[in-house]
Amino acid sequence: MYGEIITIGDELISGRTLDLNARYAAGRLTASGLRVSRITSVGDDRIMVSRTLSKALESSRFVIITGGLGPTDDDMTNEIVAAALNRSLCLDRQMLDRIKRHIEAKGIELTPSIEKMAWLPEGSRIINPDGAMCGCCIIEQGVRLYFLPGIPDQMRMLLDNFVLPEILSLYEAVPSVGQNILKLYGVKEHQIAETIKAIRSETGDVVLGFYPHFPENHITLSLSGADEPAVVSEIQRVENLIRRLLDPFIFASGNQDMEEAIGRQLIDKSLTISVAESCTGGLIGHRLTNVPGSSAYFKGGVVTYSNQSKMDLIDVKEETLETYGAVSDQTVREMAQGLRKYFNTDLTLAVTGIAGPDGGGPEKPVGTVYIGLSAGNQIFSERYRFWGDRGQIKLEISTMALDWVRRYINGDPFIPGV
Ligand code: AMP
Ligand code: MG
Repeated sequence: MYGEIITIGDELISGRTLDLNARYAAGRLTASGLRVSRITSVGDDRIMVSRTLSKALESSRFVIITGGLGPTDDDMTNEIVAAALNRSLCLDRQMLDRIKRHIEAKGIELTPSIEKMAWLPEGSRIINPDGAMCGCCIIEQGVRLYFLPGIPDQMRMLLDNFVLPEILSLYEAVPSVGQNILKLYGVKEHQIAETIKAIRSETGDVVLGFYPHFPENHITLSLSGADEPAVVSEIQRVENLIRRLLDPFIFASGNQDMEEAIGRQLIDKSLTISVAESCTGGLIGHRLTNVPGSSAYFKGGVVTYSNQSKMDLIDVKEETLETYGAVSDQTVREMAQGLRKYFNTDLTLAVTGIAGPDGGGPEKPVGTVYIGLSAGNQIFSERYRFWGDRGQIKLEISTMALDWVRRYINGDPFIPGV
């Protein structure tokens, strides 16, 4: 059941284009219980493409090949494959007809470079001949070679709807593959590693993967086996072990992100929120509104970047700014409180900090931030120090601020500050 993926295109090996096709195909094949033993990217190059193809024929049962099927001169996959497999290049009538149909509808003339796309290696079978996009399949020495377009959307559509179901139908006992992802914030990768050591002897065959995803850390739990319910329950058992040790740091499982998780919590508790942002420049509001339906709980925000705007818009006192500075505990508290005059929300969240690279000092170096949250007649605030470039610091501040909302709702203590 081993297969491999070959992506073809000069843009891939020159670093101009990120190889999205290999990543997508590998993810889909693996999640379906098929094993991907190798991924190779090669340029639009005769020798490299034919060498890679010959190597694939030695060890794989199926090969997904993307790119090089278009009309331009650098799209030579069909030609190269025909030569590599010692097959002639034939004009495929079915392919030519479908190309003609498509270009006629758009009022485009049939040129030799368009006709070139209908010249396929002898023995090719067209995948999705009646659709708007297609690929082809060749069986060589018992190995199935699937040729798909390079354009990621087209490749995905054909892989999901035609290629994957066909491969799966050929193998009787494809194992069931289960995976879950736990997403954590507020705990470092090495701390996770140390913590997990305590349950290593109990995790059975579940494979744990650790992936830093700044500023979060993700843990994947994967298992394959013949019996799907057993796979699911074994993954759940190990997830429970991990939760026992790290639960307060786990903000989501599966594909959910921080803002979705918080949105769910706010809806469940019928709570509303507004934000006053300084150094994050609207990032927290942006993230909250990335979630469809967020208007149910997010009422709005203000970006008060300058001292003047902090005073004029949300009533931070001039005296506070002069005595303690814009980046201070007192200021963040006044920001959270001052916001209430605009938004009658259950929670008001405020941040003020120094994202850098300039503006830091010995007392308050770059990365210093204050987070404030007011809820009813309670107000909380904390000072943190973050590291990284301006973008990373802004991102981490927004994540910590969102994490505060999550922890407040859960009744968990906030991550201690500095
Ligand atoms: P092609 O089928 O080789 O003509 O590819 C058409 C376009 O799809 C290229 O110009 C790239 O922009 C894009 N493309 C091709 N292969 C990939 C890939 N592996 N990952 C992401 N984009 C790709
Ligand atoms: Mg290409």
